[in-house]
Amino acid sequence: MKSFAAELAYFLRGRARQNLKVLALYGLFLLVLILLYANLFRYLMLELEGREYSFIAGIYWTITVMTTLGFGDITFHSDAGFIFATLVTLSGVIFLLIILPFGLVSLFLAPWIEQRLRYRPTYELAASTNDHILIFGIDPITRTFIRKLQARKLLFVVVTDNYDQALMLEEQEGFKVVYGAPTDAQVLRGLRVETARYVVANLSDPENANICLTLRSLCQTPVVTLVRDSDHQELLRLAGANQVIALPRILGRFLATRATTRGAMAHVLDSFGALQIAEIPLYGTPFAGKTLAESNIRQQTGLSVIGLWRRGQLTLPTRDSILAPDSLALLAGSREQLQALEQLIGDPTADDLVFVLGHGRIGCAAATFLERKPVPFVLIDQRRSTSCRKHVPVYGDATDRETLQKAGFDRASGVIVTTNDDNTNVFLTLASRHLNPHIRIVARANQDENIDQLYAAGADFVVSNASVGATILMNLLDRKESAFLSEGMHLFRRPVPPELIGKTLEASRLRPELGCSVVALKNAVGEMNTTPGPKTLLQADLTLLLIGSAEQEKAFDQRYPRTENT
Ligand code: AMP
Ligand code: ZN
Repeated sequence: MKSFAAELAYFLRGRARQNLKVLALYGLFLLVLILLYANLFRYLMLELEGREYSFIAGIYWTITVMTTLGFGDITFHSDAGFIFATLVTLSGVIFLLIILPFGLVSLFLAPWIEQRLRYRPTYELAASTNDHILIFGIDPITRTFIRKLQARKLLFVVVTDNYDQALMLEEQEGFKVVYGAPTDAQVLRGLRVETARYVVANLSDPENANICLTLRSLCQTPVVTLVRDSDHQELLRLAGANQVIALPRILGRFLATRATTRGAMAHVLDSFGALQIAEIPLYGTPFAGKTLAESNIRQQTGLSVIGLWRRGQLTLPTRDSILAPDSLALLAGSREQLQALEQLIGDPTADDLVFVLGHGRIGCAAATFLERKPVPFVLIDQRRSTSCRKHVPVYGDATDRETLQKAGFDRASGVIVTTNDDNTNVFLTLASRHLNPHIRIVARANQDENIDQLYAAGADFVVSNASVGATILMNLLDRKESAFLSEGMHLFRRPVPPELIGKTLEASRLRPELGCSVVALKNAVGEMNTTPGPKTLLQADLTLLLIGSAEQEKAFDQRYPRTENT
């Protein structure tokens, strides 16, 4: 059933909205005309016939005459009066009885009926549909995910039970849309779930659970859910979700690691057996400002720097890459090596203090992460949290300078800007930079469009909800080794190609010719060499763990085609 609100929404959009303005102007014109006639009526009655009428009577007379009702209870008795009354009747016929209904029909009713007749939602997919990706729930994350799917020409279908949304997504954005209740088994069957490649459930937690349960009663297609409340993670898994992503927690952790200047905040992103992939902010470490070769990280700790994050971009470093203080190093190595690094860096800024602006789900997750380190923090929010009882924020509007100053903002070494409004986030970034020029600012972008603005406002790091969410979805879809690397970059595993057996890593020319980098080598019994050097020999039974973009992975496979058993 189409809701009244949805119908109403139609009139508030696009051309209909434009037409509504025309109607309002016309209404104003009629009002002026009626007022004019009413006053002329009173004037003529008084001047010609000596009768005095009230303003209300004037309006009453004008409307009855214009609508041709003409009750005859008030009439003129002079020729001039008759002429005036005739004029009013004629203009009433033209403006009220002809133009107004015609305008209403042609501007509103006809386009509305036309759109309803033209748009017939799809209720099910063709029986031959297969390998498609089903998406339940449209938001900035799934929209960014869809853009990635479109770039790779993968077949996706959006499912919604909102008629108006279906119409808009299909007619205006050109998506393939199926109209139906996502938790209805009949609808799921019509979506050919059993031949689908992947299902993304991005509605409320109960709805996602319901989708998983219904889906599991039909087939084993993998389903990934984005959970709203991380306490529901286990429940969704029980309902049958293959992967449950608690995005607020992931984003909170990303923000927290980037906001602290404490060196020992290397934070493990992923691990592959003994190999851990971690990132560490370079600010305040002895390596900041040096080149990779000068830093001697490899010699001192055994860790490899496999990437450098700066302004949201991950690049593969060379010996001469500068370890800029406003960047993050992506490291690969063992737990012991990471500990050695932490010791080397020590605790240069023990007086770390991080301000967290916005105690929503993401701000709360960031605070929890800081608490665990522990790094002292101050939370600010204008409202009381409905879900968190363990933190005590300062209540106030963070855009208010006084709120920040009273809470001791001038002592802060880092700030996490994480409100749900990007305009506020841009403003808070600007204000933070202004109040405290040396502070480290980590900002959250709710919409990708605002990433550049946040950097321009002075943020050191911007973490985009939509990008992080969509990248994780994409990596899971591709069954990537690492779900948490950046846009484009990922880890992949290949056996040493026969052509390279017996060569050194340097002689393989993988890096200069293909662009991808060997992060680690694993032998047949599972032992890892996490610090391969230029002279490391590539032996037959080794597996390479490489880092690179999708294109670099493809280039690798073209140069060294995989045989059947790899
Ligand atoms: P969430 O999207 O769940 O991380 O929530 C964002 C949080 O930001 C909410 O708790 C809002 O109350 C908070 N917030 C939004 N604007 C401001 C502001 N100007 N000052 C302080 N907190 C804010
Ligand atoms: Zn909290």
